[in-house]
Amino acid sequence: MPATPTDDTARADAERFARLLHLSTHATPNNAAFGPPIVNTSIYALPPQPSGTYQYARWGNPTWTALEEALAVLEDAETITFPSGMAAIAAVFYSLLKPGDRVLLPSDGYYTTRICADTYLAPMGVIVETCATAALATRDLAGLRLVMVETPSNPALDLADIADVCTRAHAAGAVVVVDNTTMTPLGQRPLDLGADLVVSADTKALNGHSDVLFGHVSSRRADLIGGVRDWRRIVGAIPGPHEAWLVHRGLETLEVRFSRMCISALTIAQRLAADPRVQAVRYPGLPSHPAHALAQRQMTNGGSLIALTLADEAAADRFIAACPYLRPATSFGGVHSSAERRARWGDAVAPGFIRLSVGCEPTEVMWSALAAALAA
Ligand SMILES: *Cc1c(COP(=O)(O)O)cnc(C)c1O
Repeated sequence: MPATPTDDTARADAERFARLLHLSTHATPNNAAFGPPIVNTSIYALPPQPSGTYQYARWGNPTWTALEEALAVLEDAETITFPSGMAAIAAVFYSLLKPGDRVLLPSDGYYTTRICADTYLAPMGVIVETCATAALATRDLAGLRLVMVETPSNPALDLADIADVCTRAHAAGAVVVVDNTTMTPLGQRPLDLGADLVVSADTKALNGHSDVLFGHVSSRRADLIGGVRDWRRIVGAIPGPHEAWLVHRGLETLEVRFSRMCISALTIAQRLAADPRVQAVRYPGLPSHPAHALAQRQMTNGGSLIALTLADEAAADRFIAACPYLRPATSFGGVHSSAERRARWGDAVAPGFIRLSVGCEPTEVMWSALAAALAA
């Protein structure tokens, strides 16, 4: 049947639409864009014999690659990104552990790491043991497959000597994983100290803007990081490209943010420690910290977290509520200072114990607000 004008119009529409669908190549001219493109795709056009990084988007995505290349520079190690800190930690556990393996986790580390091990690893035959961070120095590591270290610990800010744990763990044939969330690679470099793998909840200071959950795993051991990559590709615990882009953007200001946070935290810790209304202050950057010498050796500064104890629950709640620049949140590491009374989560701490996360507010303004809240 001969084409009518109406058919021609429909055909042109259809062809335009088909062309529109095939426009999507997305390389920027001369690769000149400063920001990485957010590549929202599930599939890639493939050569007759499929090859390369980008074959299917559960295996790879250019926005992840942009972030992973930046993190690899920072960690000086190959890096795989995940949609949360827990997804990164789980990837290490599941790619590494087999039934019968013994793992040692910090009893005072991130709570959900222990829940993950108790809920899923133990029933599959992995033997899960725990040890307080400050007691790792004297713990026998014989027979372990994996030793996990989180220093400073959470929330009491105890320290473990990463280099010493690595030496003893390696002699015992164990792999050492360090959760470096609180310090970031700018504050502490576990891989340089001998750790086999580092995990990070980039949800916290690394992204720093409290607008996304994210995580990464880095390692200089090709066998271990290869296992982590395979885990992500097979299980599908993959980050979204938009989230990866947000973390890339956050990461670019990590150095200025973390520097301000840690300088403010030291000043605030010193002044809180001198205030008679504060019963106790724990901060690795203060000489009063029981492992201050180790902190000076192992960390580039005292970090952005301060543990302080006020008289009781009511005094702690009053202090947090009275300070206009403290958000009562359970996370830390963001540009906005936050604080919480940890006993509300059942932590083994005094009722008036507060974990204070110092943000990027100008130091003296922040201190004035905290001092006024103490007086409230
Ligand atoms: C928050 C946190 C995690 C978990 O990160 P998510 O992104 O919430 O899954 C793991 N380890 C530490 C030390 C954390 O603070």
